[in-house]
Amino acid sequence: RSSWMAKLKTGLRKTGTSIATVFTGTQIDDALYEDLESALLMADTGVKATEHLLEDLKRRVKDSKTTDPTAVKGLLVQSLAALLAPLQKPLRIGQYTPTVIMVTGVNGAGKTTSIGKLTRHLASEGATVLLAAADTFRAAAKEQLGVWADRNTVDIISQEGGDPAAVAFDAVSAGKARGRDVVLVDTAGRLPTQLHLMEELKKIKRVIQKTGPLQDLGNTTSQSANSVPPHEILLVIDGNTGQNALSQVKAFDDILGLTGLIVTKLDGTAKGGVLAAIARERPLPVYFIGVGEKLEDLETFNAQEFAQALLS
Ligand code: GDP
Repeated sequence: RSSWMAKLKTGLRKTGTSIATVFTGTQIDDALYEDLESALLMADTGVKATEHLLEDLKRRVKDSKTTDPTAVKGLLVQSLAALLAPLQKPLRIGQYTPTVIMVTGVNGAGKTTSIGKLTRHLASEGATVLLAAADTFRAAAKEQLGVWADRNTVDIISQEGGDPAAVAFDAVSAGKARGRDVVLVDTAGRLPTQLHLMEELKKIKRVIQKTGPLQDLGNTTSQSANSVPPHEILLVIDGNTGQNALSQVKAFDDILGLTGLIVTKLDGTAKGGVLAAIARERPLPVYFIGVGEKLEDLETFNAQEFAQALLS
């Protein structure tokens, strides 16, 4: 636990030091707030979240009656933690057999790595996982996912050069038949501007929906609309890409309807402020954060700890 915080802190130090220097002066004045505004914008916090944070911070400073600039840093941690709090939600599994999770993202965001990490995380909690290699576009994708499957000793459903929607359908059917807790559907990386590829994602979603409602283990007498898979549609974003990541969140959400995010590469970014921008502009749950390249480098998101790490 302490080691991931250390990684996060080391990574976010690039963001944090530029913000922290703002508080080294002797008084709380307009210059301090102006420097803070620049530092937050530099960290890709975005205009809206920056304005919100400054307003909230000024209120906290006034209420506290402090005249010490270093105390302002502590109050900024509070402002940031409050802004980020709605993003902190656990990924729920176990309600359906299986819980179907579609995973999307642009190339290089860390999607395949995150699926491997997520598989390990779920397995460590005792869940049985089935992987669907619905990235039939990239020749190496299936093999790459296969490596993760082997490492985690879980089954993988794939199809040579097949239709991604068909692979997803087969995987959900197999997941049902085999009584798996979770089916993770990998999809090919794509940009939200590649409209035909976004249509393909919509088709995968539609075809998964056609597998029909899954038994709601918490409510077996009536089928709720939520029981129709996919139960989660996640977007993996590279935390290092800052405002670009925010645009991806908005575009994928508008086109596909997202239920949550995985934010990767927070172990080496100067753009950690992007989470504040997401909180302000598209507050989707951040189920997990990636803090390294290894299987164990996946953590649940904690708003307070993140705010502290960012400004430590
Ligand atoms: P995909 O194209 O979205 O499937 O991306 P990959 O999973 O292949 O990852 C792209 C690169 O990012 C690889 O070199 C990964 O090791 C690296 N990567 C993924 N997640 C993280 C992370 O949280 N931290 C770091 N430092 N690297 C990561």
